[in-house]
Amino acid sequence: MAQSKSRGHVVINTEECKGCELCIEACPSDVLFLSDKFNTHGYHPSAYKGEGCTGCGICFYTCPEPGAITVYKRWDLMTETAECPHCGGEYKVFHEDETPDVLICTNCLKAVNGE
Ligand code: SF4
Ligand code: SF4
Repeated sequence: MAQSKSRGHVVINTEECKGCELCIEACPSDVLFLSDKFNTHGYHPSAYKGEGCTGCGICFYTCPEPGAITVYKRWDLMTETAECPHCGGEYKVFHEDETPDVLICTNCLKAVNGE
């Protein structure tokens, strides 16, 4: 995956999404759309275009489904990446001042054990 210049990043948990489209209508950057694929519940889930998210969080606060949307702020400043052992996708390593690194795959959202 190429390094994103977007200030934010959003991941949709497709199995939690009910396809209500509220996040799509609410996104001021118009970077969300309804996928033409089905999830296992028979809904078309929301999806991210891949670029242009600002990390504003409006979609997260609009979504009625807990756990359907994860928003990452300061995405463009996170440069350290690794490959996820679960999905093979790229995840970013979060460095926070007073907490251990939070290692969550930013592709599949599964926890990744530290080195
Ligand atoms: S965080 Fe903001 S810009 Fe990014 S997808 Fe959600 S509403 Fe759109
Ligand atoms: S608001 Fe939530 S449930 Fe509705 S389409 Fe967006 S992610 Fe799916």
